[in-house]
Amino acid sequence: MPKVVFFLIAAGFVILGSWLLAGIPGHFSASIGSYSIDTSAPIAIVMSIVLVAAILIVLRVAGSIAAIPRSGAAWRRRSRRAAGETAITRVLVALAAGEQGPAWKEARRARLLLGDSPQTLLLVAEAARLAGREDEAGEAFQVLAKHPGARFLGLRGLLRQAVDRRDWPGALIVAREAEAAHPGTAWLRQQRADLAIQTGNWADAVEFIGPDARRLTYCVAAADAEPDPGRSIGFAKQAWKQDPTFPPAVIAYASRLRARGHERRAQACIAAAWKRAPHPDLAVFALAPQTTPLARHQAGKRLAGINPSHPESRILMARVSLDAGFTGEARHQIEIAEAEGVKQQRRLCLLLAEIEEHDRGDTEAGRIAQRDALRRAASADPDPHWQCTNCRIDHALWLPKCETCGEVGTIQWQTGARTPGLAIIAA
Ligand SMILES: [Zn+2]
Repeated sequence: MPKVVFFLIAAGFVILGSWLLAGIPGHFSASIGSYSIDTSAPIAIVMSIVLVAAILIVLRVAGSIAAIPRSGAAWRRRSRRAAGETAITRVLVALAAGEQGPAWKEARRARLLLGDSPQTLLLVAEAARLAGREDEAGEAFQVLAKHPGARFLGLRGLLRQAVDRRDWPGALIVAREAEAAHPGTAWLRQQRADLAIQTGNWADAVEFIGPDARRLTYCVAAADAEPDPGRSIGFAKQAWKQDPTFPPAVIAYASRLRARGHERRAQACIAAAWKRAPHPDLAVFALAPQTTPLARHQAGKRLAGINPSHPESRILMARVSLDAGFTGEARHQIEIAEAEGVKQQRRLCLLLAEIEEHDRGDTEAGRIAQRDALRRAASADPDPHWQCTNCRIDHALWLPKCETCGEVGTIQWQTGARTPGLAIIAA
C-alpha cells in the first residue's frame, strides 16, 4: 500500500514536470560545422538531460572495466585469507584433539596461505612439536622470536625445547632473554626457579621460588653453597626462621654464628630446637666444642635437661655418661628409656653392650652379657635415619638433593625400619 501511494505521488510529479516543461516558450538552434540543430526549448532541455546521463553512464562503465585487475587481486587475497583462516581453525581443532598429522599438515597450509604471522608461526611450531618435528618447531620459534610483538612467544617455545633437551646452559640464556622481552611473568619465574634447581644454583632458586614447601631446603642449600659469609648467614637465617626445629636449618644458622664467634647465640638456637624437637645431629653440634669426656658429659647434661623426658635426651645422657665412665648413670638412662616405651632400637642395644664390656670386662659373665646385647642389636629396630621419600634410599646425612634419584627436598628424618636390600648413601 505505501508503495502504491509513493508510485502515484511520483507519477504526479512526472506529469506535472512534463506539463511545466512543455509550457516553457522559446526556440533553440545550434550549428557545428555542417551540422545544425533547430528545435523548441523543451526538446532541447530533454536532449541535454539525456546527453549528460549518457556521458555519466559511459564514464561509470569505463571505470569498472579499468578496475577489473585490482578487484581480481583483492578477491584472490580475500579468498586466500578465508582459506587460511579455515586452515587455522582446523589446526586448533586437531591440536585440541591431539591429532598430530592433520595438525601439522593444516598448520603448514595456514602458513603458506597467510605467511609468517605470529599466529601461523605459533601454530606451526606447536603442531610440529606434537608431531615430534623438533627441528621444524625450533625454526618456527626462532622466526617468531624475531617478531617485535611476539618475541616472548618464540623465546617461550625455545625455552621449553631447551628444558626438554636438558640443555640447562642454553635454557638459562633463553630464560634471560625471555625475562628481558617480557619481565615479571609468573610462568617464567617458575621456569627460572626450576632451572636454578636443576643446575644447583640455590641462591637463584631462593630468589625465584614463590611460596613453596621446598623453600626451606633451598635456603639451607644456598647457605652451604654461598661463598660470601654475609650472604651465607642470610640464607641460613631465612631457613632457621622458616622452621627453627628443622635440624639442617638450625645447624646451618648455628654453625655460621659459631664461625663468627657468637657461640652463646649458636647454643641458644640448638637449645630452642632441642626443647621442641630433640635430634641427634643437634647434640653432635652442641657438644662439638667440648674436648674431654667430662666436659661433654656436662654439656650433654645441660642440653638433655632442657627436655629431660624425651628419648633422645635419655640416649644422649647414656652416651655421654658412658664416655665419662659413669656406667651406672648410662644403664639407668637406657632402662628408663625402655620403661617409657622407647622401641628397642639398635643403638640402645649397642650402648648396653658397651656398658657390659666396661662394667664386667673380659670375663665369662661379661662376654655372655655382651653377646646377649649384640644378639638383641641384630634383631632390633633400626635407628632413626635420613631417607629419601622418593626413592627410599637411606642417607647418612641430610642433603638438599637426593644423589640417587635427583629429587630436591625429599630427604627426611625417618624413625621407621630401613628398606630391606637398600644401601646407605654415605655423605
Ligand atoms: Zn631419592
